[in-house]
Amino acid sequence: VSGPLTNWAGNHTYRAAEILSPRSVDELAGLLDCAAPLRALGSRHSFTAVGDAATLLRLDGLPGAEQIRIDPAAMTVTVGPSVTYAQLAAALDRAGFALENLASLPHISVCGSVATATHGSGQGGNLATAVCAMTILTGAGERLELAGDDPRLAAATVHLGLLGVVLELTLRIVPHYRLTQTVYENLDWEAFFAHAEEIFTIGYSVSVFHRLEGQARAVWVKAAPQQPARAEVFGARAASGPRHPLPGGDAGSCTAQLGEPGPWSERLPHFRSGFVPSHGAEIQSELFVDRADGVAAVRALLAVADRLLPGLLVGELRTVAADGLWLSPQYRRPSLGLHFTWARDGDAVAHNVAVIEAALAPFAPRPHWGKVFSLPPRALTAAYARTDDFRALRAELDPRDRFVNGWVKERFPALTHRP
Ligand SMILES: Cc1cc2nc3c(=O)[nH]c(=O)nc-3n(C[C@H](O)[C@H](O)[C@H](O)COP(=O)(O)OP(=O)(O)OC[C@H]3O[C@@H](n4cnc5c(N)ncnc54)[C@H](O)[C@@H]3O)c2cc1C
Repeated sequence: VSGPLTNWAGNHTYRAAEILSPRSVDELAGLLDCAAPLRALGSRHSFTAVGDAATLLRLDGLPGAEQIRIDPAAMTVTVGPSVTYAQLAAALDRAGFALENLASLPHISVCGSVATATHGSGQGGNLATAVCAMTILTGAGERLELAGDDPRLAAATVHLGLLGVVLELTLRIVPHYRLTQTVYENLDWEAFFAHAEEIFTIGYSVSVFHRLEGQARAVWVKAAPQQPARAEVFGARAASGPRHPLPGGDAGSCTAQLGEPGPWSERLPHFRSGFVPSHGAEIQSELFVDRADGVAAVRALLAVADRLLPGLLVGELRTVAADGLWLSPQYRRPSLGLHFTWARDGDAVAHNVAVIEAALAPFAPRPHWGKVFSLPPRALTAAYARTDDFRALRAELDPRDRFVNGWVKERFPALTHRP
């Protein structure tokens, strides 16, 4: 390692002793015979050690690492392990196709995002729900293709890096579409409590930004261009100029607003692909509750707002549909995501995350796998009905425990051995 390797936010320094760059799948398979725990490197946007291990595998030297293969007849696209959503969206745009959804930024790798069930907002599922086939070099060194109605596909899609190296993902695509984006400012919480479901369905994708203050700061609505423009959303007024999700942030890094129609890929992410997104020196956390508990969960957070230490940059509320992916935070539960972006002060974040987890405990929250959480292992085992099934699949695909890292041993040990 030439210098310390950190994640995007700089709050985690990888502890890996070596980073290897296999040039072929055979060479990669040979590396699985070494003793060290291994992890594939994504675009390093997670905020935790989920992707850390003694040996890290860079995949950009593999043949096909950057491939993007569109199949217009099947309405699918197949991507290699190094492809980011920005690259994929550009290729789909050029060919007249689209994905149903995107996260708040396009810089993240498709494989890493799917592994952690990354999501946007809307009536559809998280980004992993677009996967209809995958090819894994398992921890046992075997090439495994999962597709169609193979039940192992739902088991393996959200895998936290635990099954081996994903060589290819195939995603469902849809015809190209356009959206507008409009920011509505200052939503009274009482209006949110009374109309939450209407607010979250007012457009194709809706985010409510707030700082646990007297009002929510803004409602970001991404909508079909034919949808009539509106001056307000339950009392929140359309902004007079472009806005950034963070107070004082430079809106120049954000996708176009003010109702101007544009391609899906330039409206669904909050941040433009050519710019550094968000704040940078930040840490994110997110919990998901049943969408039916969403209003009660927000009330519970507002009730503990004065117990939080300083450092809350912004919170974001988003909706994600239920799915059948075993380790998805939305497994069989339509969800409200309660996200927080914090200033990069690890101790304050640990305190605040613990306060929030305690406040949301009555709603059996599930954490975002790529963000900071401190829920104990027993809470995760209780929250994930397929824990035992996943452990059995993992033992079959990685019998030598090559992909068991310190993070999973500490955070969710039941995925690797019976507690
Ligand atoms: C500014 C910012 C904004 C964000 N916004 C959102 C958002 O809107 N919604 C959301 O849900 N999340 C969001 N996140 C979180 C982020 O999307 C997730 O952490 C996601 O995992 C990042 O993908 P990555 O490739 O960087 O993953 P990494 O952190 O690099 O890896 C994640 C896991 O995937 C594994 N992995 C990666 N590639 C492979 C492969 N080919 N084979 C096997 N395992 C692999 C890694 O080993 C690791 O275990 C945001 C993060 C940042 C920094």
